[in-house]
Amino acid sequence: MPLTDAALARFRVSLSQARDDTVRLMAGLGDDIRLIVDARQDSNSDDEHDPEGSTLAFERSQSDALLQQSRQRLADIDAALGRLDDGSFGVCERCGRPIAEARLEARPYARLCIDCASLVG
Ligand SMILES: [Zn+2]
Repeated sequence: MPLTDAALARFRVSLSQARDDTVRLMAGLGDDIRLIVDARQDSNSDDEHDPEGSTLAFERSQSDALLQQSRQRLADIDAALGRLDDGSFGVCERCGRPIAEARLEARPYARLCIDCASLVG
């Protein structure tokens, strides 16, 4: 069942909101990482066993991972917005079948239908 114009318009709104959220999150993470890097430079760097130092390293890697996820999310959102423009939105990139509308409600940036997503992992 093809998506209605109203549904497409709704997905466009949720995609732009998701984009704003992701950009804001990335900006916040960028700040976090700078703060962590600064804190690390201030701490006693020649003691590798400093418990505070390893906490900072852990926080840094957490923030890096989140930032990476957010970059991927942003790329997915931009690709979905591109598909809205060229009329291929809601079509699985792998098998070419429609992606269930319920799945798109939850993840409007989904590139794959649920079957292909579970195959890819
Ligand atoms: Zn598929």
